[in-house]
Amino acid sequence: MKQIKCPACGREVKITSRELEIASAAASRGGLATIAVPHGDHVVEVTIDERGAVRSVRAVPAAEESPFSLLDLKPIPAERTPPLSRLSRRELMILVYVDGVRTAGEISRLTGIPLGEVKSTLEMLKKLGYVKDIIEVVK
Ligand SMILES: [Zn+2]
Repeated sequence: MKQIKCPACGREVKITSRELEIASAAASRGGLATIAVPHGDHVVEVTIDERGAVRSVRAVPAAEESPFSLLDLKPIPAERTPPLSRLSRRELMILVYVDGVRTAGEISRLTGIPLGEVKSTLEMLKKLGYVKDIIEVVK
């Protein structure tokens, strides 16, 4: 767990050990990895290097929620995550947001990865045992 002060509102931003581990694995595939954490009316982008150290923190305005669908999918993380070494950077950058709270729609907004790709990646992560279940939720 890492606690960082939000540059926009001064409240604390929490990054869990699991998020740090997955983001640093993504960074080790090349480049830094950014985790976007919703924080009130803004999003805090925390950039992590391959050793799990925080390189930069910035706040940006939150993206508008897509209005066209009331149904969303909520991925539930596996109790024991299989080795991260098997996953690509893109797959890790989706897995980092799987916490049993965020939905596929939120993951798409936070990562900038199209919803269809987020959904197909989540299905694949479920088949491989990284995601325990994917449930349908009504917004
Ligand atoms: Zn804030």
